[in-house]
Amino acid sequence: MEAGSVAAALLTEAGNVYVGVCIDTACSLGMCAERSAIAAMVTAGESRIRRIVAVMPDGRAGMPCGACRELMMQLDPAAREVEVLLDYESRRVARLGELVPGWWADARMAPEA
Ligand SMILES: [Zn+2]
Repeated sequence: MEAGSVAAALLTEAGNVYVGVCIDTACSLGMCAERSAIAAMVTAGESRIRRIVAVMPDGRAGMPCGACRELMMQLDPAAREVEVLLDYESRRVARLGELVPGWWADARMAPEA
């Protein structure tokens, strides 16, 4: 088992920061850093992410994988607005909604009008 080659931090709507590291195991039972941070957030009773960043082994920001994108989408009806930091130097950010086009559960998860 290895852990920590990727780290993630997220800022919640309430202004709290949660962090996590990736867990890599021999047969893929580990978890991404983003989902580790999300688990810490949920454990603390929160579910609304404002911003998230993953830091890759080379120190650069990394794109969340499909599983992490999906989990964020399912946690919060407003998840499309989550800011994902893509490049630290240029401060380039994408909205989660841009990274999950044609999301399967739009009709089920849409915010109440
Ligand atoms: Zn992931």
